[in-house]
Amino acid sequence: MTPEVDQWLAVDTLHDGTGAPPRHDRAVGIKDNLIVAEVATDDLRPDASVRTFPNSTLIPGLVDAHVHLLFSCDTDHERTRTRFETSDDATLTAIGEQNAVECLLGGVTTVRDLGDTRNLVMGLRDRINAHSLAGPRILSAGAPVTTPSGHLHWCGNGTSGEDGIVAVISQLADAGADVVKIMTSGGNMTRESDPFTAQFGDAEVAVAVRTSHGHGLPVAAHAQNVASIRGAVLAGVDTIEHCLWRESDGSPADPRTLVDLLTGSRSTVVLTLAGIQRALVPGAVGFTDQERTDALAISPTGDLRTDFSWAQKLLRAGIPVVVGSDAGVRFTPFRNFTDSVHAAMIALDCTLAEAIAMSTSLAAEAIGLGGQVGRIRPGLVADLVVLDGASTNRLGTVREVLRSGTRVVSDGQLQWAAS
Ligand SMILES: [Zn+2]
Repeated sequence: MTPEVDQWLAVDTLHDGTGAPPRHDRAVGIKDNLIVAEVATDDLRPDASVRTFPNSTLIPGLVDAHVHLLFSCDTDHERTRTRFETSDDATLTAIGEQNAVECLLGGVTTVRDLGDTRNLVMGLRDRINAHSLAGPRILSAGAPVTTPSGHLHWCGNGTSGEDGIVAVISQLADAGADVVKIMTSGGNMTRESDPFTAQFGDAEVAVAVRTSHGHGLPVAAHAQNVASIRGAVLAGVDTIEHCLWRESDGSPADPRTLVDLLTGSRSTVVLTLAGIQRALVPGAVGFTDQERTDALAISPTGDLRTDFSWAQKLLRAGIPVVVGSDAGVRFTPFRNFTDSVHAAMIALDCTLAEAIAMSTSLAAEAIGLGGQVGRIRPGLVADLVVLDGASTNRLGTVREVLRSGTRVVSDGQLQWAAS
């Protein structure tokens, strides 16, 4: 028996977000904010209220587990940092509002923001939840926990020592953070930090994780070297961001020891495929010659598939890997998250369906929303994206987006009114 349905969306091709091969000629039934059915189009009753999208693909709303809504996607890190450091709250909020709309236009209906300052992203989150602003569902980490001159200290949460870490995390919990971000290594956007050494001692990271979990908050650890990744995994962080397995001199370390470390751990790897990787996808469009040159300059092998052979080993070992974008950083606009999905097919040597799973259901599970979003399944929230075309190896242009059952993008344009 067909359940009560407000509307059906009928499409040529459907990816359910689990990594299963696509299904064809399917219709998805929506009631209020939920998915309530998925049936063969042929089985729809003649009197059903159906919107049919010829030559189209339906996927779950994309889940970007690693973004920076207040960053401005400039052509280089220094410009983005300077804009961030010199902008007042109103200006940064306006950047965040625009980026939130760009997410929807790109089919991204859920994001986890890992670089707030002065709780501005939490403000955006609350206004979106109150339907006074258009945007994706947001989980906010507040300002990252870092050392006084460490990576992203300019977001405002530099601290040191176990007592300092406990105090900062308690403030974040009180302010309403959904997750804690800790910078266990330096990073490329903060020239005075070192990406290849650990910023905190292992005991400090362990205190950060214990304190966060005590507040009921998961922990995302930025880590791009062996020492920082090892400390984060042993401390029991929930996600490892970037997870670049590098020695202290920057050279790649043996990926087999990373597989050993992560096997049986509770940590999920969030691979970020930002513009600097997207530009290496053969045939990628929308990048300047300079951006391609920059991308090749930091690519260890000049080839995306060999650059990420270590991540392919993780996948083969059954270690969960999620694809995020780091949107907001240099030449990584929020609207282009499907470019990260395409980059994942190369970097991880996987099918389109598997790359979609890493940016929908697996991403939702990694950030604690697996029971709500990320799959096309009755009972889950109706976050859905209709894309042009029905190619087996490429996602087309975003045509329509539903967020919690409400149409927010139609014909590729924002269609939204405050309520
Ligand atoms: Zn980031």
